[in-house]
Amino acid sequence: MTDHSALKEPGFRESVDLMFNRAVGLLDLSPGLEEKIRVCNATYTVRFGVRLRGGIRTFTGYRSVHSEHMEPVKGGIRFATTVNQNEVEALAALMTYKCALVETPFGGSKGGLCIDPREYEEHELEQITRRFAYELAKRDLIHPSQNVPAPDMGTGEREMSWIADQYRRMNTTDINANACVTGKPAHAGGIQGRVEATGRGVQYALHEFFRNPEDVALANLKGKLDGKRVVVQGLGNVGYHAAKFLNEEDGALVTGIIERDGALVSDKGLDVEAVHHWITAHGGVKGYADATYVENGLSVLEAECDILIPAAVEGVINLGNAARIKAPLIIEAANGPVTAGADDILRQKGVVIIPDMYANAGGVTVSYFEWVKNLSHIRFGRMQRRQEEARHQLIVDELERLSKDTGTGWTLSPGFKDKYLRGAGELELVRSGLDDTMRAAYQSMREVWHGRDDVTDLRVAAYVVAIQRIASSYRAKGL
Ligand code: NAD
Repeated sequence: MTDHSALKEPGFRESVDLMFNRAVGLLDLSPGLEEKIRVCNATYTVRFGVRLRGGIRTFTGYRSVHSEHMEPVKGGIRFATTVNQNEVEALAALMTYKCALVETPFGGSKGGLCIDPREYEEHELEQITRRFAYELAKRDLIHPSQNVPAPDMGTGEREMSWIADQYRRMNTTDINANACVTGKPAHAGGIQGRVEATGRGVQYALHEFFRNPEDVALANLKGKLDGKRVVVQGLGNVGYHAAKFLNEEDGALVTGIIERDGALVSDKGLDVEAVHHWITAHGGVKGYADATYVENGLSVLEAECDILIPAAVEGVINLGNAARIKAPLIIEAANGPVTAGADDILRQKGVVIIPDMYANAGGVTVSYFEWVKNLSHIRFGRMQRRQEEARHQLIVDELERLSKDTGTGWTLSPGFKDKYLRGAGELELVRSGLDDTMRAAYQSMREVWHGRDDVTDLRVAAYVVAIQRIASSYRAKGL
């Protein structure tokens, strides 16, 4: 086996650029346009003080705007101690490519605050979040038509709702104020299905992959998701929902869960809901009874399984462990979990990687729906639901009349009437829109993957599709 340990691991930003370069080299773009698409337009760094616990604490935050070929720009806000400019810029670049790939009409952005949210009380976090939001909003880095944040690691509905409220206080006459941020709670301007959206998108991505037996065979797998062994890293928003849906709805076995303090493994499959409860109550996986605990959690990334789902942080599959990864299929639920060097090694081993910019695009897709809902000031389905039900009722009545009048005795199958008569509410429409997006984006990558001799993997295919779309958009502007 080749020893990769002596090779230098690129940073996250460099890794994204290396992957971009591999794809852009296959396209016929002018070097100037290539450069324009690759570079990050601007990164704003802010240091602000908040009076806490009898003293003043200074916090450092960032908001990076990678590309404004479409506006508003879009991207989450991360709360973590590891946040730095390089990371925020890499994540903003990925947002640009992701939005292009799934056809959400946004440029790419990302924000971060260097903080461990677990160290603060709720009211303290609110003060800090509001102050950060104030600093960004006053520079239009939070704005319904210019820059629309969303949740990411360490943030969720609660933080988004504070941000929206802060923006509203600063812009009391802006009728579209609610559209300044997505991922808000459903009762406060949010949309049904946003919390689960990224995990749901991972599930839909796998559904689409398994609908294509040729692609499944390339990963040395066969059949459907039922019974497939899944290892997931990070049981947070994305990992929890993905693992839960794959297990409960598709019959996959979650044989490993890796968290910060170690991992749980079980050949018979873990109860995702029970593990999630345990983590919420105890802060980690250690001590959970119905599984084997492994202290070196990272070693479980190398476990035998069918599908590996890194859903925590970037760079976890790297030059140090890539050669030992046994999963034939990796779906990148997190952003950047596989470094550029590891990507090379895994490709040579024949591992199929469903890339982050596609795999976790469910979040931004449903954020797009939320933003549209906020701008249109009406819940999806409100106008047509009952009308749709009334039309379906007409057909059911007619079928029943025909059966009676002709004496055939035909009856509708049990459950049909209930299902057919129910008009789609917001959640059904969100799921349908998300499913459609994930299917269409997969097919656009697949066309390039199988249609071009010089493209041998899904990541390059995804970049090719995204870069071509961004290039067309710049050209249309006359650049
Ligand atoms: P989260 O904060 O809800 O969950 C992260 C989970 O990972 C937590 O359970 C945490 O304990 C665990 N974790 C952190 N570091 C770890 C480590 N070193 N080893 C093992 N476990 C670790 O975050 P999230 O929103 O689920 O985001 C996870 C990833 O998905 C990030 O890369 C994020 O950028 C990406 N993502 C999130 C969204 C979204 O809508 N939330 C959308 C797209 C992409």
